[in-house]
Amino acid sequence: NFEFASRIERVEPSATLAISNKASELEANGVDVVDLSVGEPDFPTPQNVVEAGKDAMDAGHTGYTPSNGIPELREAIAARLREGGIDAIDEEIIVTPGGKQALYEAFQVLIDDGDEVVLLDPAWVSYEAMSRLAGGSLTRVDLEPYSFQLEPGLDDLEAAVSEETELLVINSPSNPTGAVYTDAALEGVRDLAVEYDITVVSDEIYDKITYGVEQTSLASLSGMGDRTITINGFSKAYSMTGWRLGYVHAPSALIDQAAKLHSHSVSCAVNFVQRAGVEAIENTDDAVVEMRDAFRERRDMLAELFESHDVDVPIGDGAFYMMLPVDNDDQAWCSGAIEDAHVATVPGSAFGSPGHARISYAASEDRLREAVGRLAEHEYI
Ligand code: PLP
Repeated sequence: NFEFASRIERVEPSATLAISNKASELEANGVDVVDLSVGEPDFPTPQNVVEAGKDAMDAGHTGYTPSNGIPELREAIAARLREGGIDAIDEEIIVTPGGKQALYEAFQVLIDDGDEVVLLDPAWVSYEAMSRLAGGSLTRVDLEPYSFQLEPGLDDLEAAVSEETELLVINSPSNPTGAVYTDAALEGVRDLAVEYDITVVSDEIYDKITYGVEQTSLASLSGMGDRTITINGFSKAYSMTGWRLGYVHAPSALIDQAAKLHSHSVSCAVNFVQRAGVEAIENTDDAVVEMRDAFRERRDMLAELFESHDVDVPIGDGAFYMMLPVDNDDQAWCSGAIEDAHVATVPGSAFGSPGHARISYAASEDRLREAVGRLAEHEYI
């Protein structure tokens, strides 16, 4: 008979869980499931990074590190951020076990009960949960009418924000739409943030995965350096999901607060993983480009396949997701698709956009072809 804290009762279990449970259940019964539900590159971690991790372990880098991260990695991150136009120094960075922890710390440090958090829908599932855990009150701006682009949706964003808004979350390239926001859109965000004194979380975890466009870091825009919390991580660009490595960059006053939470909760990111992170940043650009190009080919192939079935899917210029328009009851569509066609996707309603299914194209071309074939055969498209 536990009396659970209200903060945890405000949060639902992850929506992808039901899908992955179903997929595992089917697979345990010998069914071949095409799993397009996971937000994870299907490439191995580049070998030089693996070696760097092993070497670090062999060299005895297995103890605690300074809570905010080893100096070499914080310096390498700061240098990378400066290349992206952010005026960063290592003291403004905390190295975290994954971008998720970095985001969690940002929400915990800024959001009090009732503070307004603004999300652009469809939005990655965990922003809502993190806001709820912190006691935030959510306002959601729907970008679906604008094919998920922010620039034409700026008026809607302006109507949603006010002096009361504490935090706005921007995620470009976006999970789940793949949209990469234009500079004009980001400048629009800047103007609103400055006018209404809003802090912005810029989740740039897919920044290296863009197709023919460049991602702009929000904190590089004039007026944004002192009001942006930049989040990034190694999971997607370097195919390092299980290593758990990410970071937060923010003005030092905010970092000082987050550092308290960090040191009292996770202590530090894993020592040898941080050392592998230095290798990832410094010597892995070619592998990143190879993976990016493979994602681009898959995106184009998948878009053509859907087109050949007369399905019109908005295509983004980044990340490795697309939002397939489906029945209004997207939960039923996704449950049916996995049961009948054995294709796993995530209901758009989990991202605040019912009527869609999120497809991850971090899968081989054969599996993508197989998935579309099965969806067509079972009349899901
Ligand atoms: N932000 C977005 C938009 C994501 O899609 C993810 C992972 O799915 C994360 C952050 C967190 O990734 P990680 O904690 O593995 O760095």
